[in-house]
Amino acid sequence: MPPQSSFEAVNAYVDDAARIIDLDDEALAVLRSSHREVAVSLQVRRDDGSLLVVRGYRVQHNGARGPYKGGIRFHPQADLDETRALASLMTWKTALLDIPFGGAKGGIEVDPVGMSPHELERMTRRFTNGIRHVLGTYRDIPAPDVNTNAQTMAWIMDAYSAGAGYSPAVVTGKPLDLGGAPGREAATGRGVVYVLEAAAMHWKLDLTALRVAVQGFGNVGSWVTRALHELGVPVVAVSDVRGGVHRAAGLDVPALFEATTGGGSVVDVAGRDGAEAITNDELLGIDCDVLVPAALGDVLDERTAPLVKAGTVLEGANHPTTPEGDRIMNERGIRVVPDVLANGGGVTGSYFEWSQNIQQYRWPEERFNTELRSKMVEAFTNTELFAEERGITLRQAAFAIALERVARAEKLRGSA
Ligand code: GLU
Repeated sequence: MPPQSSFEAVNAYVDDAARIIDLDDEALAVLRSSHREVAVSLQVRRDDGSLLVVRGYRVQHNGARGPYKGGIRFHPQADLDETRALASLMTWKTALLDIPFGGAKGGIEVDPVGMSPHELERMTRRFTNGIRHVLGTYRDIPAPDVNTNAQTMAWIMDAYSAGAGYSPAVVTGKPLDLGGAPGREAATGRGVVYVLEAAAMHWKLDLTALRVAVQGFGNVGSWVTRALHELGVPVVAVSDVRGGVHRAAGLDVPALFEATTGGGSVVDVAGRDGAEAITNDELLGIDCDVLVPAALGDVLDERTAPLVKAGTVLEGANHPTTPEGDRIMNERGIRVVPDVLANGGGVTGSYFEWSQNIQQYRWPEERFNTELRSKMVEAFTNTELFAEERGITLRQAAFAIALERVARAEKLRGSA
């Protein structure tokens, strides 16, 4: 069998969920394909005078439940297929979290490492101008994703507003000075931890006795680590692109932040206080109770899934598990909390930011976190109960609940 593309892999989960809810073939055909795909060629003048030509994409998967919503990533693997897969995941994530958005994703197929801030700004503005006709406060709302951040969103908002007039709600994950919401930056990571708290309560696990390993120390991984530390949960291993670090009794979390502020790596704390250096692969197989893959996709596959020692995998990244990896972990009795549930705090925080922008109003961070927690707990509980009732996995339950909601909205709108 030829290897599955990322979009085919997501559609395999969609097909599985459609069987569970007995969805008819016509409705399924709609949910398996993206509604609109924009591909643009971007010409970016480098600081040295040379010209960089790269491809950019915005895929709008489904908009039955609200404006398209999803992040924008800058990565060499952010091709059309990957963007389609991630856009589809956003449709299921927004539906499962029950927020009034559809699903979209954007990407530029580029390695941004080594690009200057001016080059990144020029590329972001070019991209915005290339896709602006499909964006809008009630049309499609980007957000940060891999290798993009609040500054990227500020450039998109500015480029878009130049034509449309002041439009803060056209992007989320903005800097606080431009209408960003206090709490949004931490929301994906905090959301992962709120789900873990709910799961521990439901499964009767002692939260502070759980040893957690986190792969990735970007926005999601670093906030997961910080939030766990605040709760007194030991983080026994973390990693970033340069490698990882492990200490069975728990790492010195403030030291990790000290090491990484200003561009250092978590590996720099190795050798201190009994912390040992490990590889990213070793992290996946480390002795722990909860594994949080919070870096890139496809890391838990047929090679690495058999090595996992954790009893629970919390997917902080988007599609960190291949269908084969998923099958292996299910067979091994590992509880996998899927991406569309575990990392849904980011887009839920985006929903809070967007709705506050529309009202020109701002919540304090405590309220943001309280509302975020209640959304995450509700989504976890619904998914867990659905899975228990039917004897299916959390991923199957999450997709089934989401598919049912989107299919209902499609039917009510009567688009066919
Ligand atoms: N990029 C994040 C995700 O994959 C957030 C998307 C958003 O807030 O629109 O969920």
